[in-house]
Amino acid sequence: MKYIGAHVSASGGADQAVIRAYKINATAFSLFTKNQRQWNTPPLTKDIIQKFKTNCAKYGYGKHQILPHNSYLINLGHPERKLLEKSRIGFIDEMQRCAQLGINLLNFHPGSHLKKITINNCLARISESINIALNETQNVIAVIENTAGQGSNLGFRFEHLASIIEGVHDKSRVGVCIDTCHAFAAGYDLRTKENCEKTFKEFSDIIGFKYLKGMHLNDAKSQFGSCVDRHHSLGEGNIGSTPFIYIMQDVRFNNIPLILETVNPDIWPKEIAWLNSHQSYDLK
Ligand SMILES: [Zn+2]
Ligand SMILES: [Zn+2]
Repeated sequence: MKYIGAHVSASGGADQAVIRAYKINATAFSLFTKNQRQWNTPPLTKDIIQKFKTNCAKYGYGKHQILPHNSYLINLGHPERKLLEKSRIGFIDEMQRCAQLGINLLNFHPGSHLKKITINNCLARISESINIALNETQNVIAVIENTAGQGSNLGFRFEHLASIIEGVHDKSRVGVCIDTCHAFAAGYDLRTKENCEKTFKEFSDIIGFKYLKGMHLNDAKSQFGSCVDRHHSLGEGNIGSTPFIYIMQDVRFNNIPLILETVNPDIWPKEIAWLNSHQSYDLK
């Protein structure tokens, strides 16, 4: 079974995101559980939590179909003690919000060294940040996203993600989300079936599919290997439609949220229908 959806707006409350997902025929969705560009957001109210859970039950979204995204401000590998601390507190808050909503995944960008510390030092800080957050929370899995490698962002090599996982004590509560646009921009080719085989073989060897908790399905406006993060609608960018069909026909991508973060929300229903049309229903 493939769960396909998009990153929908939570404006008006997290419960509204569920309805927006349903309206575009999504079987998975992503959302921000707090304002993604502000440090301080009021706690979730009991009313919103209840309505979110009711809507999930009503429209048929289980835990494995929801992959929230954390705030862009958080840098779990921050070189400066004070700001690292602030990020860790913010991350714990995000993990707790997911737990309150009954969600067990939280997707985040690993962090940036800001050219002040080494890559290895930054990766170790990120692992430690995850360890702290896992100790402070229950059930929620920390899902690290690969990046395009823009600026000093880490996570653009599968080795970075593997190294972060290695430093996490509770391996049952850490995973990864692979964004196709980010992978392509970081130099993992996906334009042909052979490229897909090679890239996902590398993923399997270095990280392992057991850690794959979600995918972001995006085409790219940016060039191959450019380290630039610019998403595009499926089939309209420099990647083309091949990897998306490949993913739909491969059982290794079953039973995890497959999320569109493509640039034109108006065509999400069309993109979801197109992905569904390539599903192999004979595969369990
Ligand atoms: Zn993404
Ligand atoms: Zn992106």
